[in-house]
Amino acid sequence: MTELATPPVGESTGVTRISHWIGGRSVPGDSGRSGAVYNPATGRQTGAVDFATVEEVDTAVQAAKAAFPAWRATSLARRAEIFFRIRELVASRREEVAKILTAEHGKVLSDALGEVTRGLEVIEYCCGIPTLLKSEYSEQASTGIDVYSIRQPLGVVAGITPFNFPAMVPMWMWAPALACGNTFVLKPSEKDPSASIWTAKLLQEAGVPDGVFNVVMGDKVAVDAVLAHPDIGAVSFVGSTPIARYVYETATSTGKRCQALGGAKNHMIVLPDADIDMAADAAVSAAYGSAGERCMAISQVVAVGDVAEPLIEAIRDRIPKVKVGDGMDPSSEMGPLVTKEHRDRVASYVENAPSEGATVLVDGREGVLPEGFFLNPTLLDDVKPGMRAYEDEIFGPVLGVTRVPTYDEAVRLVNDNPYGNGTAIFTRDGGVARQFQFDVQAGMVGINVPIPVPVAYYSFGGWKASLFGDRHIYGPEGIDFYTRGKVVTSRWPDPATSKVDLGFPQTR
Ligand code: NAD
Repeated sequence: MTELATPPVGESTGVTRISHWIGGRSVPGDSGRSGAVYNPATGRQTGAVDFATVEEVDTAVQAAKAAFPAWRATSLARRAEIFFRIRELVASRREEVAKILTAEHGKVLSDALGEVTRGLEVIEYCCGIPTLLKSEYSEQASTGIDVYSIRQPLGVVAGITPFNFPAMVPMWMWAPALACGNTFVLKPSEKDPSASIWTAKLLQEAGVPDGVFNVVMGDKVAVDAVLAHPDIGAVSFVGSTPIARYVYETATSTGKRCQALGGAKNHMIVLPDADIDMAADAAVSAAYGSAGERCMAISQVVAVGDVAEPLIEAIRDRIPKVKVGDGMDPSSEMGPLVTKEHRDRVASYVENAPSEGATVLVDGREGVLPEGFFLNPTLLDDVKPGMRAYEDEIFGPVLGVTRVPTYDEAVRLVNDNPYGNGTAIFTRDGGVARQFQFDVQAGMVGINVPIPVPVAYYSFGGWKASLFGDRHIYGPEGIDFYTRGKVVTSRWPDPATSKVDLGFPQTR
């Protein structure tokens, strides 16, 4: 998995070294290990990212630990002021970071801008931290006794993030964590790490004190060092289900609070009364947007009854109109996949589909651009449980169609699936939609909305194998995750009994 980056770093090779950010400055790693970062649209290596040692992770944690007392004591008014500044800087520079995302992830600029905008909403929510941390007070709970609750930060907390949203997913974590008064160590994906360094510099400019936000680059060595570190109080993880399970089990076994969001297989049910054009537009944008590399992507359409034929026809009509190309070209609507290995893995599902009994209606391996890690939109029909293309999270531009006769069978498919991230239903019938939200086992439900990512003042998270832990990310549950409650029971001596004359009446 890890490799020494080739060609070597240097101006002549066009390969930039990407280092850690600790205590407010760039810190080159000295492990001698690094990973290659590519421009997926050209296939060329553009970066070499340092892989941290256990000691380097410790240095970052110590920087965060040293910064914690002062940051924790910083007033809510000051923290809110800094967050307003962060908000202004991110909003005014979103094009800048969008280009970084496109250059390393491959998603088209409009998707990259959309990512930053959704992350910005979480930052905006955190500007209200004085209100969000307001607690409860019970006067005279017992005679002369008042009881109140307060929420306090945990200390040093860590985030481990996936490749597919290199700016937004870290924002889901560091924004509420910092607003609540914690200090932070981020371990971003090694595939597209530069957005994290952009973020670190921006936070410094906004007035976040050095050491409050740190970045360690790396692979499993860095992750394991985070999970084992005794000074880290909580870990947020977003990534694939096997690693989410591992992170959750390991972090909690060392006494840490942990929320670990995993993979997905999101089904979109289309009923016979659905608006076909609306459903087809939704399926195409939700399956092929960001080349399907979204945990909320629709990867499976479940066509109920006789809607299958007109729906498939409408989706097929739209596929050739999806313009695939370099994400930097503003006319591109879908970019490449993140790495060659991932592109080849996704293509293997298309290769295997016929032998499993599925039908390849549109083969995305045909007519791909010659350079880079491209795969065109693919449509499979007759995809059924038991097939690899059905069971696995493919995480690419491959949409499967399953035909079922009834609503009940459609819901059973969703509920039998081990994942439970998002799901959607397309219908004109409000009663059926309401029954669906009652019946379905998933954390985020769309009604004629294919990608129901909650707005920032709700919380994001799935059920079943899509989330390990009991608290969803960002929103009110994010504030809850990054703080712990304290309840104070207080009694004061009766001022009437004071030996000092306070001018207080002796009887009332
Ligand atoms: P991944 O699980 O491979 O990597 C996620 C993080 O874990 C990275 O920082 C990586 O360095 C680290 N990691 C990888 N292998 C590890 C190992 N063996 N031990 C310890 N750490 C390890 O995920 P990815 O490929 O970067 O991202 C795609 C996955 O993330 C998909 O499964 C997608 O559904 C999921 N995802 C989920 C959500 C959600 O909200 N549920 C959001 C975005 C992405």
